[in-house]
Amino acid sequence: MITTKKALKIILANVCPLMVVRNPLDEVLGCCLAEDIRADRDLPPTDRSAMDGYAVRAKDLAESPRELRLVGEVAAGIAKCPKVTEGTCVRILTGASVPKGADAVVKLEETTERDGFVKFLAITKVGANIRIQGEEVTKGRVVLCKGTVLNAARIGLCASVGKAAVKVYERPGVAVLCTGRELREAGTKVGPHQLRNSNGPALLAALENAGISRIEHQIVPDDPRILAEKLKVTAGRYNVIILTGGVSVGKYDFVPEAVRRIGANVRFHGVAMKPGKPQLYATLSGNRHIFGLPGNPLSVLTGFSELVLPAIRRLSGFDAESSHVTLKLPLSRSVHSKANRTAFVLGKLIWGRKGLQVASIKSCGSADLVAGAQADGVILVPRNIQRIAAGELVEFTPWRSIP
Ligand code: AMP
Ligand code: MG
Repeated sequence: MITTKKALKIILANVCPLMVVRNPLDEVLGCCLAEDIRADRDLPPTDRSAMDGYAVRAKDLAESPRELRLVGEVAAGIAKCPKVTEGTCVRILTGASVPKGADAVVKLEETTERDGFVKFLAITKVGANIRIQGEEVTKGRVVLCKGTVLNAARIGLCASVGKAAVKVYERPGVAVLCTGRELREAGTKVGPHQLRNSNGPALLAALENAGISRIEHQIVPDDPRILAEKLKVTAGRYNVIILTGGVSVGKYDFVPEAVRRIGANVRFHGVAMKPGKPQLYATLSGNRHIFGLPGNPLSVLTGFSELVLPAIRRLSGFDAESSHVTLKLPLSRSVHSKANRTAFVLGKLIWGRKGLQVASIKSCGSADLVAGAQADGVILVPRNIQRIAAGELVEFTPWRSIP
């Protein structure tokens, strides 16, 4: 059986980023930028006032108090404005261009104005409260590099440099097929021997979290012929298919057979991890990927965050290194594992006097979604390590992607 590290390596070696598209700014949150973004002009574009106050010549305020004659006003967005000459000042508002002749701005709070004169209570220095033209960036310089994930600030910056649309990598569409004759959807009648389909809604939420919006979801019966037919049809429409259940060695585990029936190339079946040992990964031509996750809810969530999400991020344009993001965090209490494979133990983030830490959560096994619902992600416990003491740094995979 291969290790999780090796499994991830195989996946990333088979996945290529999708096409580049040009999308408007309201459609690119969380996308991977596919071009360098440059400043179309200096920022700020002119010398600007950082305060509401008065534009002055610093030389005129070498001593205090001093009175200067008020000769006009300039507000943000106004181009026309009187010049500041010896003994005069101009009222200026935040964001307005600094008038000719002025070399400092004095805050309103440090002045009093009466009968066309302004009294200044303190001296000032050249450049005070002025944002110099180009101090943030000069025209033509790169402000965002290709490969950057677009968040609120970066989308704002694109708009600042005049970009209404930007080139980003397309994100994949994903089909979720939940296998199992025992499954019923929440909201429908369920018999004592049946089970509610929790994997479907959980995966849809995890996908939405990863910025995936084109998703199809169905329950498929444990029948190799129907399963193969469903796989074939969905593989024609999606780059990623996630199957849950039916991937192990039981009598009704038909996923491996169905995957082979449609001619997919099985890259691995079985990973030395707990939970989720029977994980299957197969590829079809044309950058299409099939993941078979064992049916128990915690195997699904772990398999998704450790193996499927990195593939989705790579398809979405992120480089291999940033496709699987983990945090190094101190343990708040010791964690134990009896597994002879890499264990992924449920973990909860806690903020306290010692800063951010992670606490392990006990579970009754991989079906225990009640415990899973308390977790923020999983703690990696390396193979053959039985105990990690409180205070030690551990690798934690958050179930919400960062960034
Ligand atoms: P399987 O991998 O098909 O053997 O399923 C393992 C366990 O997970 C069984 O107890 C299934 O009933 C359960 N299971 C399978 N699919 C789902 C699902 N979609 N939602 C919740 N539990 C599931
Ligand atoms: Mg099953």
